[in-house]
Amino acid sequence: MNKPIETYTSEDLVIRWNPDKCMHSANCAHGLPSVFDPRKIPWINMEGGLREDIINQVRKCPSGALSFQVDENV
Ligand code: SF4
Repeated sequence: MNKPIETYTSEDLVIRWNPDKCMHSANCAHGLPSVFDPRKIPWINMEGGLREDIINQVRKCPSGALSFQVDENV
């Protein structure tokens, strides 16, 4: 069954997480634990790191479950 894509937002950044694609490698939780913590709800804390650090970590997601969108107008 398809699970809904989760969206997390800050002032100028949107992160999307597709649970169906996630292979639970924990790359994100190990790489930036202040933002990605599967033990917490919500598990992505947009205030836990700098925008560039969050983007860099999202780019390392091996499955493509994480994606981002930057609001260039902010
Ligand atoms: S890095 Fe990507 S695939 Fe790995 S746990 Fe995080 S979201 Fe899932």
